[in-house]
Amino acid sequence: MSRIVYVNGEFVPEEEAKISVFDRGFLFADGVYEVTSVLDGRLVDNGAHLARLQRSLDELRMASPLPMAEIEAAQLEVVRRNNLVEGALYLQVSRGAADRDFAFPKDAKPSLVMFTQAKNLSANPAAEKGWSVITIEDIRWKRRDIKTVQLLAPSLAKQSALDAGADDAWLIEDGYVTEGTSNNAWIVKGGMLITRPTSNAILHGITRRAVMRLAEEDGIGLEERFFTAEEAKAADEAFVTSATSFVMPVVRIDDAQIGNGNPGAVTMRLRELYFEEANGRKG
Ligand code: PMP
Repeated sequence: MSRIVYVNGEFVPEEEAKISVFDRGFLFADGVYEVTSVLDGRLVDNGAHLARLQRSLDELRMASPLPMAEIEAAQLEVVRRNNLVEGALYLQVSRGAADRDFAFPKDAKPSLVMFTQAKNLSANPAAEKGWSVITIEDIRWKRRDIKTVQLLAPSLAKQSALDAGADDAWLIEDGYVTEGTSNNAWIVKGGMLITRPTSNAILHGITRRAVMRLAEEDGIGLEERFFTAEEAKAADEAFVTSATSFVMPVVRIDDAQIGNGNPGAVTMRLRELYFEEANGRKG
């Protein structure tokens, strides 16, 4: 069944959804994006995603195509028109179409596209088994805090992981784990959560922030600090967070089994707490 896609103010069947070949998103990866998960037809933590979108736009001196409230209204309409119950809503803003030139165009209008991807996020069999990850050098640019569409480096890393029979890759810079290809990386040691502090080196994950708050409310300790792949391999538990995987256990890093090779108790507790809140069941 064809989806309804949003393109610059229009809701069109996906076959008719078109963007110019001169769009700077296509020519220069001059664009930013957000992925919001949808549970029960509702956008999860979307206010935080739109705040990050605004920050990404500001950092790139890119105009917003619409006020954020109108972007949100369009997001809800895309979800509604596609009858999306569970999955993800993808949103992308690029600097727009202009004759090819490295300098920013003076009068280009930013492009805005959105589409849905139906996916079973809550009953994800991968979460029962846990992921294996490989470690690989982080070759991305230095502004990973800006959520740009230049995703070739993480795409190469993801494919290398799949080719090696793993599920994802943890990226390593100067001997330390930065993050996963499209998620934030965490380990658990002695009941304490450890995750890298935010900086230009990683994306400031919306799920990361929510999990930090949930952990605090639940009395789980947290240290924001750098950790190496060796430390991660000796940890009791490991997991990643992202809008579409929520809290995903990691049970193998390269050749090292983590804990007893099953998803850890702290990890599964956080996954449960995240769902409780996302489903609005929290008291
Ligand atoms: N790091 C990177 C590099 C990502 O692409 C993502 C997913 N967008 C994340 C972390 C997780 O961020 P969030 O929890 O906001 O999805």
